[in-house]
Amino acid sequence: MNFNELKPESLMMSYGYKPSLSEGAIKCPIFQTSTFVFNNAMEGKRFFEVAYGLRELDENEELGLIYSRLNNPDLEILENRLCLWDKADDCAVFESGMSAITTTMLEFMEPGDLLLYSKPVYGGTDHFIHHFLKKLNIQSIGFLAGETKEEIIEKINQSGRADRLTMIHIETPANPTNAIIDIEMCAKIKAHFSTEEKPVILSVDNTYMGPIWQHPLEHGADLVLYSATKYIGGHSDVIAGACLGSSKLMARVKGLRTFLGNMAGPWTGWLLMRSLETLKVRMDQQAQNAVKVAEFLNNHPSVEAVYYLGNTAKKGTAEEKEIIKRQFKSHGAMIAFDIKGGEKEAFKFLDSLSLIKLAVSLGGTESLAEHPQTMTHADVDPEDKKVMNITEKLVRLSIGVENYADLISDIKQALK
Ligand SMILES: *Cc1c(COP(=O)(O)O)cnc(C)c1O
Repeated sequence: MNFNELKPESLMMSYGYKPSLSEGAIKCPIFQTSTFVFNNAMEGKRFFEVAYGLRELDENEELGLIYSRLNNPDLEILENRLCLWDKADDCAVFESGMSAITTTMLEFMEPGDLLLYSKPVYGGTDHFIHHFLKKLNIQSIGFLAGETKEEIIEKINQSGRADRLTMIHIETPANPTNAIIDIEMCAKIKAHFSTEEKPVILSVDNTYMGPIWQHPLEHGADLVLYSATKYIGGHSDVIAGACLGSSKLMARVKGLRTFLGNMAGPWTGWLLMRSLETLKVRMDQQAQNAVKVAEFLNNHPSVEAVYYLGNTAKKGTAEEKEIIKRQFKSHGAMIAFDIKGGEKEAFKFLDSLSLIKLAVSLGGTESLAEHPQTMTHADVDPEDKKVMNITEKLVRLSIGVENYADLISDIKQALK
């Protein structure tokens, strides 16, 4: 059998793990160890040369295990498995999605640089851009879904820092509104401002689509970022993050991770490997359930508007329809909607849910509901919230794997 031709879901149970190295255990054990014993001093010296970038790996040489901040089997096997979905050369797993995002931004930007980002982005990312990066004199320019390439290029030119544009960071579809950004358009903006000495890096936070429904590297992104807390972990029991891309860029990301020391531990690695075995079946079911829930919401008199990719695919602009067709393999399992009324009505709805839990986070097996305006996006600038359509009547749902009819009955009684 040619294992290179198998689909990732067929490889999630075994890829990269040799049972013979672990007493024949069918599952990769948890390597709860801080350090690894070298066979001899020369081996230790050679491992460190590679780990600290003093020499390249020889042909067929694999980096040996050194110390769990640098490498650990639970982390390495997990990273190799994650690479399969996005067809990436390499992956780095972190102790949170935020540490994956912030480490990547810190590695590729310097004081004085300019960041272009899509609005809205995750609340934590928004905070980091507007508070921490500003402290480092890294300025940012945001753009909304629907702005054209020419408009965005003009904005950058007018900033006076066009020559310092070093990174474009986007989220698509955006949390919580499902606004969609064209990755290929961003790749063109990147090409426009890239020079030999200063290539612009395009990173995509793909948390909303997980590794199944959108593959940003295929559309010209350099790096894919995940909060693995969401679909990848999928059971609301672990916080983790990941960054994937070419060997060259990932060597830099992993380098900074080594010195910030924010890699995931072996227990997190083991949990995520377990989660990856069911990633595809979970996400398939969640997307199927979301179709049914959206259909119900579309026809409910107490619901003013539904923000769901399945709706945009039908009723969106020609550009939106084209992006959805090209970029997404599914309409996902995240739905936001405007309830008739305001905060009072939204809170009444949230407090009346019973099967669906009132909690932030998303992508897990259980369905969750929250109020972005006062919860996940509480910290976003009020003016920004207005233009991004994050209002007091907006409710966000993450659809889980429950029976869809039960989810609909819960929503129905809560709307009543
Ligand atoms: C949750 C989330 C993050 C942050 O991830 P953590 O694992 O909570 O640190 C980043 N981006 C998006 C889109 C998210 O939903």
